[in-house]
Amino acid sequence: MPPPTLLETRDEPRSVEEAPSAAWRNPRPPGTYNLAILGGGPAGILAAYAAAEVGAKVALIERNLLGGACLNTGCIPSKSILRTSQLYADMRHAESFGTQAPKDIRVDFAAAMARMRGIRARLGRRISAERLRTLGIDVYLGAARFTGPNTVAVDGTGLRFRKALIATGSRPLIPAIPGLAEAGYLTHENVFDLTECPRRLLVIGGGPLGCELAQAFCRLGSQVTIVQREPMFLSQEERDAAQILSASLARDGVDIHLNTNAVSVRVEGKQKLVDLISDDNHNTVTVDQILVGVGRTPNVQGIDLEAAGVEYDEVDGVRINDFLQTTNSRIFASGDVCLEHKFAHIEDASARLVVRNALFWGRQRLSALTIPWCTYTDPEIAHVGIYVTEAIRKGIPVKTFTVPMHDVDRAIADGEEEGFVKIHVKEGTDRILGATVVARHAGEMINDISLAIGSGIGLRVLARVVHPYPTQAIAIQMAAAAYNGTRLTPFRKWLLRRWLQ
Ligand SMILES: Cc1cc2nc3c(=O)[nH]c(=O)nc-3n(C[C@H](O)[C@H](O)[C@H](O)COP(=O)(O)OP(=O)(O)OC[C@H]3O[C@@H](n4cnc5c(N)ncnc54)[C@H](O)[C@@H]3O)c2cc1C
Repeated sequence: MPPPTLLETRDEPRSVEEAPSAAWRNPRPPGTYNLAILGGGPAGILAAYAAAEVGAKVALIERNLLGGACLNTGCIPSKSILRTSQLYADMRHAESFGTQAPKDIRVDFAAAMARMRGIRARLGRRISAERLRTLGIDVYLGAARFTGPNTVAVDGTGLRFRKALIATGSRPLIPAIPGLAEAGYLTHENVFDLTECPRRLLVIGGGPLGCELAQAFCRLGSQVTIVQREPMFLSQEERDAAQILSASLARDGVDIHLNTNAVSVRVEGKQKLVDLISDDNHNTVTVDQILVGVGRTPNVQGIDLEAAGVEYDEVDGVRINDFLQTTNSRIFASGDVCLEHKFAHIEDASARLVVRNALFWGRQRLSALTIPWCTYTDPEIAHVGIYVTEAIRKGIPVKTFTVPMHDVDRAIADGEEEGFVKIHVKEGTDRILGATVVARHAGEMINDISLAIGSGIGLRVLARVVHPYPTQAIAIQMAAAAYNGTRLTPFRKWLLRRWLQ
């Protein structure tokens, strides 16, 4: 029996650069696979689980580390260090909660990063090649590429498949800034390998990744500057949500440059000098490290999609229809390699969708899924459904019910009053079109609303859901109750008054 591989081979946290264990032996292909999966990130692994569960013969091929970006360089490491950074931020405000924190609380950056790596190693053990094998999944470690419309090769071994899933994910997009490559930069692929906190850090990009890591590093002790080309952070979110985030980052001490482009980089000694342009203003910041977080680009190269008859483009990735099927009807795609929204939590639903559609003639549509998302800054910003601007563009009349968190008892008690719950309904009805929640635990709160949208539950029913008191999620019920209030027209009020008399 081959020894455990990758994450299971040691107790010590490992670096993401490590090659797969040399001791691992790929299986010998047993015949034609029901499903061959290229890529062992969340999209690939969850599809492998779902297919193996229903008895399919599954091959899962991973060229680097099982768990993909989410486990190794994305969701898990970022959330782990955000937790530490939040703890430090809370301790700094201990006095406002009536406690005395020692004056010499220090950030032990190396220890915080070691904690993160320990968490990553622990979660990684759940999806080691050995563990997946016990679930009936044939794991191949090596780079995959198509050799025909129903064949794929892994380091010289050929596999035949009835159906295949492309789940090769994405990689950081690097902006063409003169001098950047020569000066050196960090991306999410290596920032979590740091053991020393950069004294001065420039974050390029004000999307979820840039904002989360700017706040985390600032709270952990870096002097952080963030540049964002757009006039606001999280450019697709609602303006007031983004403004709250700006204010929060500024309070933490992040130096914010909106509407600004980083245009060139040069090195002087150990320092990096970055020229910024905002309208006619030129500015230079001096930093020790630069973190690039301007987006992700799909991994469509090196897998010979042409040999399989799968169409793609470099920007949007593999071309799929609403059933996640590519231009080769045997081959499906899921995850970052083809989806507009690049989130790990879409992968579970899309994995089940792929298994039904690929293996059981299902006709499940991606567009039928209700997909919320959240940026895990402090406060968190979560959204589901459509935005007001989108509704206006589509000519849908919208009415919005808003509850500020400073009206919510538990938020006041917790000292977490920043933010709001905003629910948009189609005017004249209680049908929920979308919602934005800005609150410390917005990522948890949005789920009530996702469930309501996904199940066709309107505000009238949501208003009747009993929430434990006091919780912050009561804000959702309060917004729903505000809708009920609008149903009490002057005529109805008059009728009620008459009845009571
Ligand atoms: C810093 C950061 C924080 C994030 N935080 C969150 C979050 O909080 N919540 C959330 O939902 N999402 C988050 N994301 C996004 C999330 O990580 C991705 O959406 C998710 O990992 C995509 O899964 P995937 O399986 O499609 O691709 P990936 O995770 O990229 O996995 C693809 C896998 O395919 C492998 N591969 C590629 N080519 C080949 C080949 N030729 N042969 C074999 N294998 C191959 C790669 O090595 C990789 O392991 C975050 C991302 C980043 C960068």
